[in-house]
Amino acid sequence: MTDNRSQLSSSSFLTPEDPSPVVVHGGTDPRSPLLLVSDHAGQAIPSALGDLGVPEAERARHIGWDIGIDGVGRMLADLTGALLIEQSYSRLVIDCNRAPGHQTAIVTVSDGTPVPANQDVSATEAALRTQAIFDPYHTRIGEELDRREDEGIETFLIALHSFTPEMQNFRRPWHCGVLHNHDPRFGRIIIDCLSEEGLTVGDNEPYELTDTSDYTVPVHGERRRIPHVEIEIRQDLITAETGQKEWAERLARVLPEAIKRYHEQYGSHPVTEAE
Ligand SMILES: [Zn+2]
Repeated sequence: MTDNRSQLSSSSFLTPEDPSPVVVHGGTDPRSPLLLVSDHAGQAIPSALGDLGVPEAERARHIGWDIGIDGVGRMLADLTGALLIEQSYSRLVIDCNRAPGHQTAIVTVSDGTPVPANQDVSATEAALRTQAIFDPYHTRIGEELDRREDEGIETFLIALHSFTPEMQNFRRPWHCGVLHNHDPRFGRIIIDCLSEEGLTVGDNEPYELTDTSDYTVPVHGERRRIPHVEIEIRQDLITAETGQKEWAERLARVLPEAIKRYHEQYGSHPVTEAE
């Protein structure tokens, strides 16, 4: 495991006791076609922000992080040799899958729970959170994609998330969701592969991937024109370690098969095309 603490001037916002915003796992196969990223894997809060004024039981809900996805991502990285780049801080501090300044980048209320520390956040404080957490995370992803491009390594970007089983009295029927937007080619193949496992797969459910409601895939996948997908797993299936292992093993099976089918249909991705 590698630890990459940001060297930005905002390091005073995060103290030496605070965890690094970026944690990297796996990567034993530097030429793996997979790059795994996890925007909402962590629950940390900078000591400067206390507990955000949110009770622990609330912070542990889906509003605080993507429950279970840390275990899935790490086991998947171990199984495939792929690199996993994980963001350590709670999405209640700053949502690393939103553009800075987006109205839900720093939420004042999430699924009915108020976040006192996020009321009336000044532009200066929002910028500190961005520089301390958001920037190093996305810089690390960009650096890895640059390295891969320089070395001529084909990349399939996999953004890992999990979703709460019930929202606004609606019981979500999908075991998992596959999100895509401008380039749906890889996503559609993944939908086929996961459906063949006997699963109920949401096609742009429970969310749609859009230019404004997302950041990671639009910036690192679509803008670079590399194959990409956002995979959402229902949280009750991966709360326990057995479920995390089951899903990691499933994705370790499905993703190489999906890449094989992508190559058959579209050829290898021309890495030199990236911008
Ligand atoms: Zn998420």
